Amino acid sequence: AELWQNVPLAPADSIFKLTTAYKEDTFEKKVNLGVGAYRDDDNKPWILPVVKEATRILLSDETLDHEYLPITGLPEFTAGAAKLILGLNSPALAENRVASVQTISGTGANHLGALFLTKFYQWGTNEKKVYLSNPTWANHHAIFKNVGIEPVEYPYYDPKTIGLDFSGFIGALNAAPERSVFLLHGCAHNPTGVDPTPEQWAAIADVMVAKKHYAFLDCAYQGFASGDLDKDAWAVRFFVEKGVAMLVCQSFAKNAGLYGERVGALHIVSPDKETSIKVKSQLSVLSRSEISNPPTHGARIVSMILNNPSMFEAWKRDIQTMAGRIIDMRKEVFRLLTEELHTPGNWDHIVNQIGMFSFTGITPAQSQALTNEAHIYLTTNGRISMAGLNSKNVAYFCKSLDAVVR
Ligand code: PMP
Repeated sequence: AELWQNVPLAPADSIFKLTTAYKEDTFEKKVNLGVGAYRDDDNKPWILPVVKEATRILLSDETLDHEYLPITGLPEFTAGAAKLILGLNSPALAENRVASVQTISGTGANHLGALFLTKFYQWGTNEKKVYLSNPTWANHHAIFKNVGIEPVEYPYYDPKTIGLDFSGFIGALNAAPERSVFLLHGCAHNPTGVDPTPEQWAAIADVMVAKKHYAFLDCAYQGFASGDLDKDAWAVRFFVEKGVAMLVCQSFAKNAGLYGERVGALHIVSPDKETSIKVKSQLSVLSRSEISNPPTHGARIVSMILNNPSMFEAWKRDIQTMAGRIIDMRKEVFRLLTEELHTPGNWDHIVNQIGMFSFTGITPAQSQALTNEAHIYLTTNGRISMAGLNSKNVAYFCKSLDAVVR
């Protein structure tokens, strides 16, 4: 007898489907706004100059071998990564109470963090649930479900204001049972591009502390959002300062353009050093059974950049190149819609939102019309990747958007 006849056919990944449709389209002015990866002004992937330099050095170093890394990763990488996200003056780092483990990029950090929670979080009488923003990166749902944690949603995006539903968010924090786990995007919320203000973060932290909630901070865009590594880490560092119980998932996919190299880290902040040692020992056990040892190449690249002052400065310039181009595109879309085309509606959110993505606020029907009539590919929720826009296609995009919202 055959084995797998009853396996249901899974639907294709929605982003992957968009890319396929875009590739098959022969229209000259077609635009792909689905892609979650940086593109330069010629719509090409961009290898950061500092990454090229680090790669050149690594490849010419004949002392490097292909031995296994320690289970928890390249120590210089995890230490540098922890300082990058938590800050050079982090009290948690000074007190040696952060357990850092190298992971398979941000996705692996989310997975390992979720897996660790299933085993060791003090759930008490709470069911194993995680509160996710509505909406969130779709993979969050899958990652938590896969380890037996049920995702539930908290209000986040308000379609009426195309901004944050702050009172809904705070209401959910207050209504959740004590010690609930809340997943928060450290900066540059995906898919909305809507972040809390510092004042709003402060109010969120207050409720988190009062209700003893756990912050599962996912930070996939440090530096990529504002162009400033410290600014984009502000909320994470503020939470440490406020004593919110937390972990941080970190990715170098976007800010170093190392998407396929899978470079990331999970940092779990503990109340004291002794606890942190135990936490790290268990993370090591979990990682051993999942991946045995993390990959070397990308971690070596990032480690070199983080630990070499002149390369670190060069990296900051590269980050500004990427973030600057994205921010320029936001300004140009805003200018074209408001000043040139006089497109109906308010478009302030285009420049107020941050990071790779923007929620345009257009309806699914309007998104569909952009694809069908103008060959512009985007998810039907109206999210556009700003990285897909450039000086050559931004006017065409704005004209097409103007046409579908009139
Ligand atoms: N979290 C969020 C919110 C993301 O948008 C992404 C990238 N799409 C990730 C995590 C992880 O990506 P990666 O595994 O490539 O680092």
